[in-house]
Amino acid sequence: MIPVPAKAAWRRELAAAIRDPAELARLLELPAEVLAGADRAQQAFRVLVPRGFAARMQPGDPDDPLLRQVLPSAVELAPQPPEFVRDPLGEAAARRADGVLVKYRGRALLVTSGACAVHCRYCFRRHFPYSGENPRRDDWRPAVDAIAADSTLEEAILSGGDPLMLDDAELAALSERLGAIPHLRYLRIHTRLPIVLPERVDDDLLGWLSTSRLPITMVVHANHANEIDINVREACRRLRAGVRFLLNQSVLLAGVNDDAEALTRLSQALSDAGVLPYYLHLPDRVEGTAHFDVEKARGQALIAAMRATLPGYLVPRLAREEPGAPGKSIIA
Ligand code: SF4
Repeated sequence: MIPVPAKAAWRRELAAAIRDPAELARLLELPAEVLAGADRAQQAFRVLVPRGFAARMQPGDPDDPLLRQVLPSAVELAPQPPEFVRDPLGEAAARRADGVLVKYRGRALLVTSGACAVHCRYCFRRHFPYSGENPRRDDWRPAVDAIAADSTLEEAILSGGDPLMLDDAELAALSERLGAIPHLRYLRIHTRLPIVLPERVDDDLLGWLSTSRLPITMVVHANHANEIDINVREACRRLRAGVRFLLNQSVLLAGVNDDAEALTRLSQALSDAGVLPYYLHLPDRVEGTAHFDVEKARGQALIAAMRATLPGYLVPRLAREEPGAPGKSIIA
């Protein structure tokens, strides 16, 4: 009999994740009113919350900043201002091959997986046509060929969804093939898994990270200090051994982190985990997310307040992505 390989611990955790908003409300001892509209709102974008992430939420608090990021609500279905659209970044126009986007000079984004370990209600790719894009077709060949064919590209960025949703053997093989493209100098990985499912940072992941020819920058994604517990700090400590830079990007979200104290605490928690705050994004104007929007002037005021209390290296850059722009617009 062929032995069946044991499932990695993080896969077991993910299989046990919460997929029902009513279960989340029950676990957090919240009144039924918090579920108003939740079922309808999640038709288009299902609930997914790892239990370890839910354990960092405050029971009894319907305004918990982690809960607000993941609990669907009726406001997502309310009429949206006209600038809130399905593809706010115009990504369809940047497509080079299945899953390959070239938005900025020198950098190719590879949408490696449509899956994530958590479903964030504000997600700018919540309407991305993942099912129509399959860069894994034919063993990644069309995607790798598209990157190899453009010698102006210096950096490959694994994005998603979340690239760390793929198995390590597949990621190792992909990183080896990207490493064989002579004009590539850097590999970047954008992932929320080390924050929401720190079990993902296991020996298999660290194994292929350390063998990559291309120096790796990992950009994790935390929005609030409460996301960074002892397990996340330990995961980040281990990651630092395998990557050249460990950075964080956040989204400025109304009702989650749009005050100076919350942002200051986030930078301090990141510092404790050995992670540099890199970008604070103004939310992308995605249909169904208008309730998270924060005005540019408010973002600028918050950055000024952070500068008054934190060392400069712990103050992220306030940025916004504009469709067709040659790079992110730095606002403060
Ligand atoms: S982890 Fe990232 S890509 Fe996935 S739902 Fe959250 S914001 Fe979107």
